[in-house]
Amino acid sequence: MSRQPILFCDFDGTVTETDNIIAIMKKFNPPGWEAIKEDVLAQRRSIRSGVGQMFAMLPSSLKEDIVRFVLEHARLRSGFPEFVRFAQDHGIPLYIVSGGIDFFVHPMLEGLVDQANIYCNGSDFSGETIRILWPHACDESCQNDCGLCKPAILKQYPKERYHRIVIGDSITDLAAAKQADEVFARDFLVKKCEELAIAHTPFNTFYDIISSLEQKGVVA
Ligand SMILES: [Mg+2]
Ligand SMILES: [Zn+2]
Repeated sequence: MSRQPILFCDFDGTVTETDNIIAIMKKFNPPGWEAIKEDVLAQRRSIRSGVGQMFAMLPSSLKEDIVRFVLEHARLRSGFPEFVRFAQDHGIPLYIVSGGIDFFVHPMLEGLVDQANIYCNGSDFSGETIRILWPHACDESCQNDCGLCKPAILKQYPKERYHRIVIGDSITDLAAAKQADEVFARDFLVKKCEELAIAHTPFNTFYDIISSLEQKGVVA
């Protein structure tokens, strides 16, 4: 294969078993967060606006409690550490592309994935309440107000040079999946790929992805 394989892996619901933002909101329960979540799911409100608003309702003083909560409750999907090693052993760059926030994504991946290989949103705790920062917002070609714009990131790795493999679980991975050369999907993303006839390989654990990449000859 002349093009360099490169992996773009979602975090919430993909690397971790469940969605951490939802878990954080359920736990710390700022009044009104559920209505915002419903608006986002119904696409009446953008992801960036909804996530920003939900965290803006939590005091900055909760930072350590939130990090501790995520570290104690979030579970890595089976095979993820082995998958990281597999990518390293085969010289395949692995990027985490996450709509999550740095203050819990980085600690969860500590010792597994280098911070330079993590694209996620940022945070500012200097004010009364938590402010989310958006270093990877949409470019002019995306009108979704994603917050973290996965298609904009993929674009930095041109098709001509890279065999782009996208791994994800939900609607936020769909635009990237459409652009990818290869897709590994679970949960809602499987349904969307089927609906839109996007070629994809369903997976449950990261061991499934390792054996599929071996079978397909993506790795030597
Ligand atoms: Mg996800
Ligand atoms: Zn976007």
